[in-house]
Amino acid sequence: GPRLILVLGDQLTPDLAALRAARPGDVVVMAEVMAEGTYVPHHPQKIALILSAMRHFADDLRAGGWRVAYSRLDDAENSQSIVGELIRRAAEVGAREVIATAPGDWRLRAALGECPLPVTLLPDDRFLCSEAEFAAWAEGRKQLRMEFFYREMRRKTGLMMERDKPAGGQWNFDHDNRKPAKPDLFRPRPPRFAPDAVTEEVLALVEARFAAHFGALRPFGWGVTRGDALVALEHFARHALPTFGDEQDAMLAGDPTLSHALISPYLNLGLLSPMEICQRIEAEWQAGRVPINAAEGFIRQIIGWREFVRGIWALEGPDYMGRNALGHARALPAVYWGGKTRMACMGHAVGQTRDMAYAHHIQRLMVTGNFALLAGVDPAHVHEWYLSVYVDAFEWVEAPNTIGMSQFADGGVVGSKPYVSSGAYIDRMSDYCGGCHYRVKEKVGDRACPFNLLYWDFLLRHRERFAANPRMAQMYRTWDRMDEGHRSRVLAGAEAFLSRLDAGEAV
Ligand code: FAD
Ligand code: SF4
Repeated sequence: GPRLILVLGDQLTPDLAALRAARPGDVVVMAEVMAEGTYVPHHPQKIALILSAMRHFADDLRAGGWRVAYSRLDDAENSQSIVGELIRRAAEVGAREVIATAPGDWRLRAALGECPLPVTLLPDDRFLCSEAEFAAWAEGRKQLRMEFFYREMRRKTGLMMERDKPAGGQWNFDHDNRKPAKPDLFRPRPPRFAPDAVTEEVLALVEARFAAHFGALRPFGWGVTRGDALVALEHFARHALPTFGDEQDAMLAGDPTLSHALISPYLNLGLLSPMEICQRIEAEWQAGRVPINAAEGFIRQIIGWREFVRGIWALEGPDYMGRNALGHARALPAVYWGGKTRMACMGHAVGQTRDMAYAHHIQRLMVTGNFALLAGVDPAHVHEWYLSVYVDAFEWVEAPNTIGMSQFADGGVVGSKPYVSSGAYIDRMSDYCGGCHYRVKEKVGDRACPFNLLYWDFLLRHRERFAANPRMAQMYRTWDRMDEGHRSRVLAGAEAFLSRLDAGEAV
């Protein structure tokens, strides 16, 4: 009899492992279900993107001759869970087994493990490094460091290599990157895609069903097909890549995207492959159109960071999402859900997240992430927020970035030290502070930048853990040299700020 071939919403790849394993007569199952739309309150644009991309992909499969059993969210018979839909379709077509590609989410892996039908889980080979390869690389290492993993991946892929040596004689050109940026009306804007009829139908559905979720549904400009994704990649490679390295860490109030690619959603849904992206970037460099720091820096994000965090997610297992090495317990402040704030940086980062379901890496890491970490927010809440609000958020990539890199809740698996800073970093890399109620140069008093207060509060709360870290010892020496009266004003200011935060006041 036929078998069921499960294709999940982030598995929209024609040569997906489960599709390659299909035999003639097998039935592809795709399902829009409430369980997936609501296990966290996903941003409406994220739900719309996934549903529309699924519908377009199902149409392509049908056009390619596949039998597709597609469940729409509003189908009356829809059981509203993935396993429920597998059971229903199995009865319908007389199937007795399921072929699936391993989901990037432990919750779904567990659900498939409990499915009454036998499920064969194939490894997801859309990643350049398999889970087994990563585990072998990690074996016996005291610390897992992205930089060393990245070199292996450069060798493995041959990207920007001259025989066995890195192009340009260095693995990493980051010392040429990370500059502040200036507003520029002529900076190319990422392409936007006008909704077609399929997307419009999805938008109406999302409006009706998920109106309570945080985030604006319209204007909706995400691409929803592989063709759109290729347009986005091409646009980035030709227009934004040359300045990607320089502007990578910069933040501007009037420019939420700067020279970023905005391709993570397409890559994570499977509409683009990591290797084709990197080869396209490499070609720009080979043609002499972009500097080496831009091309190398970008390729590092994809074959380095992205593959590295995925390896860690797989290696660490399902309990990773509950880690809380620093014992942080504060509830997520209302500002994350759009509550009023006088902090310009938080207002901009959260505001663009609400409007676009997008913020770039430094906004996620050094504004919203930094603030949550300094304030001691429960990392499980922080994880739920990032998983909800970003269009590119799937557990395998979001959790190691949030629990690990950003909140240090894994105790140092992803990063060797916490990403914390005072207001000075934000001031250097952005134009936010000029328009802020708080004064970034003030270290104490009512108008002192909250990052300046909380930074020291955080370091002192965790002195025992971090004082011995050679990369942090200097900060403790700086603190110890400060005047006693100044130190107590800083700590009292932090305490007062945190109690206003806990009282739900607009900070
Ligand atoms: P660009 O800046 O143009 O970068 C290029 C590409 O590199 C991205 O498309 C992405 O695929 C990859 N990349 C860069 N950094 C990382 C990284 N640290 N981990 C994995 N891939 C990376 N990325 C996600 O894809 N999904 C998430 O849910 C996610 N959550 C994050 C949460 C936090 C707290 C932090 C600090 C980072 C998170 N990231 C996540 C990583 C990064 O912020 C996004 O990949 C990036 O902002 C996507 O936008 P872009 O395509 O314009 O990226
Ligand atoms: Fe953010 Fe502080 Fe700058 Fe205000 S002064 S924008 S709170 S860093």
